[in-house]
Amino acid sequence: MSKKLIIAIDGPAGSGKSTTAKLVAQKLNYLYIDTGAMYRAVTLFALRKGLIGQNDKIIELAKQLDIVLDFIDGETKITVNGEDVSKEIRSFEVNSNVSEISAIQSVREILVEKQQKMGKDGGVVMEGRDITTVVFPNADIKIFLTASIDQRAIRRAKEFSEKGTNVPLEKVKENLKSRDYIDSHREASPLTKTPDSKEVDTSDITIEQQVQKILDCVKEKLN
Ligand code: C5P
Repeated sequence: MSKKLIIAIDGPAGSGKSTTAKLVAQKLNYLYIDTGAMYRAVTLFALRKGLIGQNDKIIELAKQLDIVLDFIDGETKITVNGEDVSKEIRSFEVNSNVSEISAIQSVREILVEKQQKMGKDGGVVMEGRDITTVVFPNADIKIFLTASIDQRAIRRAKEFSEKGTNVPLEKVKENLKSRDYIDSHREASPLTKTPDSKEVDTSDITIEQQVQKILDCVKEKLN
């Protein structure tokens, strides 16, 4: 049987990480892990409990949450303390607060430990902002996905409208720019491309081409 690899994918919001990672995982029969969903879950509960701005309380909250990730019918299912919050974590309100919560170092440590446990046996495609740098710096395959801000905003606005929320394109773009800035300038594990990551710009290629580029890396690795 061939070796079960750890495939790590990082990149900014809307660069195509989830779509690509899901399809690669399905093709290889690997586990797909959306780490952003975990930061979103902590954010959702911090919002519900009115804890935004109270970092010590958010850290305590993150310790207590029992976050379980599943992948069912091509979608990430996330339950927190037994409650399915898969839809709620994608709200515009969560989008607007998640970067602030994920900049808290202790929150990251709690979630990174869970992610390392989930991926340790390989056979996994994990995507986020710090997978190639912190969670699995020794991953077998390291990918950095990018795309132009205009393309990323169009993709996110489409996702919102498919879920029944129409957010103006300019507002989506502003939110993306602000998240990009915080995610790549924060002190704790900023989003960055490591020298050994392969950069894939998805602005002008099809999803099939994106997926194929990663499958080519897998083929090369296993030969
Ligand atoms: O990938 P997604 O857009 O769902 O991630 C939501 C947010 O979670 C990101 O903007 C980032 O602030 C945070 N995140 C992170 N580290 C990860 C995954 C996501 O800081 N590994």
